[in-house]
Amino acid sequence: MAIDFTLSPDVEDVRNRVRRFMDEEVRPTEEKLRQNESDRNAYISAIVGLRQRAQDLGLWNPHLPAEWKGMGLGPVAMAFVSAEAGRTGMGPYIINAQAPDEGNMHTLLHAANPEQQEKYLRPLAEGRSRSCFAMTEPEVSGSDPTLIQTRAEKDGDDWVINGHKWFISGAKGARFAILIACTDPDADPPQARNSAFLVDLPQPGWEIVRDIDTMAGMGNHCEIRVTNLRVPNSAMLGERGHGHLLGQYRLGPARLAHCMRWIGNAEVALEMMVDRALNRYTHGSLLADKQAIQWMISESVLEMYAAKLMVMHAAYLIENGLPFKHEVAMAKYHVANTLWRTVDRAVQVHGALGYSTDTPLERLLRNARSARLVDGADEVHLQTIARNTIGWYKEEGNTRKATGDLL
Ligand SMILES: Cc1cc2nc3c(=O)[nH]c(=O)nc-3n(C[C@H](O)[C@H](O)[C@H](O)COP(=O)(O)OP(=O)(O)OC[C@H]3O[C@@H](n4cnc5c(N)ncnc54)[C@H](O)[C@@H]3O)c2cc1C
Repeated sequence: MAIDFTLSPDVEDVRNRVRRFMDEEVRPTEEKLRQNESDRNAYISAIVGLRQRAQDLGLWNPHLPAEWKGMGLGPVAMAFVSAEAGRTGMGPYIINAQAPDEGNMHTLLHAANPEQQEKYLRPLAEGRSRSCFAMTEPEVSGSDPTLIQTRAEKDGDDWVINGHKWFISGAKGARFAILIACTDPDADPPQARNSAFLVDLPQPGWEIVRDIDTMAGMGNHCEIRVTNLRVPNSAMLGERGHGHLLGQYRLGPARLAHCMRWIGNAEVALEMMVDRALNRYTHGSLLADKQAIQWMISESVLEMYAAKLMVMHAAYLIENGLPFKHEVAMAKYHVANTLWRTVDRAVQVHGALGYSTDTPLERLLRNARSARLVDGADEVHLQTIARNTIGWYKEEGNTRKATGDLL
């Protein structure tokens, strides 16, 4: 198998253009806004201006094909774009590739019919609307979607939906939701119980109970009460009983997109760690000269290098239509934990300053904790990896396939 790590000139060009835009325009604006966080008008006008600028520079919708106002990049090129955008807080939103909209756009491209695409994907792609994806429920384990209790019942040509959701990112201000509900409670296998619905928002049957206050503050992760919500049969996204499949389809590339942004976050923390080590003097030398600090730097670098290779390999598999779920599970677990450990080490090297709110590290740390929960908790990915490994070992008597089928 040929392994070529050089980037094609067009990917290199896109990466450089995104990097320049983030460095020269997005990050300086972000820093200016941070100094006066209460000025909501300045914030909105800066965002509107930067999103227009991204469109003018041709750095809009990197993940969508040209007919949807996109750059038509595949997962490999997207890895570079998302990692560059992830080095800033608002970068992904500025180029219209933020969660959960990016995953929803992929889902609509894949599963929506032409009318649904025109109604829901078009405004998303043009940056005129936002969306949310509503699956998780407080009463049952989100790790096992076959347990979903939100119920959609047929009433003539309509569906009437009742249930309870939470941690629905982006729900406040969303113009529509992709809502997963149980339509066929007796289906066998249980993975065929759920269907997906496109729900116009706001509407009376959809009540935002609260924006959940998380350890990273109120991030628009909402609790939703769904009461006698009526939608026409035409609101079903994909086929009846395909809600689980659709979730799986969405989560593969969406998980990887998260990983790419997290690599950007982790790299910022690593650079801060090195910079602080080069500038802090104690006990006769710089921190950078102390072996204990060098090991923290080295461990972070090694984990990050492995993280990048894993993401690149998984992106390559998706791009080439090859089986990717095992590699995405490994990348998701590894990158989420690399982010957590790297930011924690950076806090350590900064001492009390790292614990203060004077640097971006505390915000990065509080946000990083959710990476080990969202899009599959650590243990669920470890379970998948072990199950695949044991299965392949039984079939083939070795673990080669489980370790990326590379060497
Ligand atoms: C910031 C944030 C944003 C989110 N955004 C969305 C969103 O937009 N839409 C949406 O639908 N959901 C969203 N979620 C919910 C997220 O997808 C769920 O939290 C996740 O799927 C886990 O479900 P749960 O919280 O119910 O945990 P549970 O399923 O109850 O699991 C709890 C813990 O049990 C352990 N566990 C679970 N399964 C196993 C197993 N098989 N073996 C061993 N241990 C196990 C793990 O340690 C896990 O952390 C979001 C969550 C967060 C924190």
